[in-house]
Amino acid sequence: MNKENRPIPAFIRKKCMACKICVDDCPVSCIGVEASGTAKDPHGYPFLEDEAQCIHCGQCAENCPVAAIQMAAA
Ligand code: SF4
Ligand code: SF4
Repeated sequence: MNKENRPIPAFIRKKCMACKICVDDCPVSCIGVEASGTAKDPHGYPFLEDEAQCIHCGQCAENCPVAAIQMAAA
């Protein structure tokens, strides 16, 4: 598969609760999450800090507890 065709994370941001599991689990540290909301009603804005670093492993999507990340065509 060409590198261009490898899937990258797509974020469904309205689902994100800012747990930052994806940040901790990414083996190349290329995800960031800006937290917002409150302790009782947390929200987050996940993003790829550096798309070129992503190794397309899918770990972030697999481990997000609320399915706010899906691997999608680049
Ligand atoms: S693991 Fe999912 S819910 Fe948690 S910060 Fe990442 S995208 Fe948001
Ligand atoms: S697919 Fe893998 S390398 Fe890419 S952002 Fe997710 S956990 Fe990190």
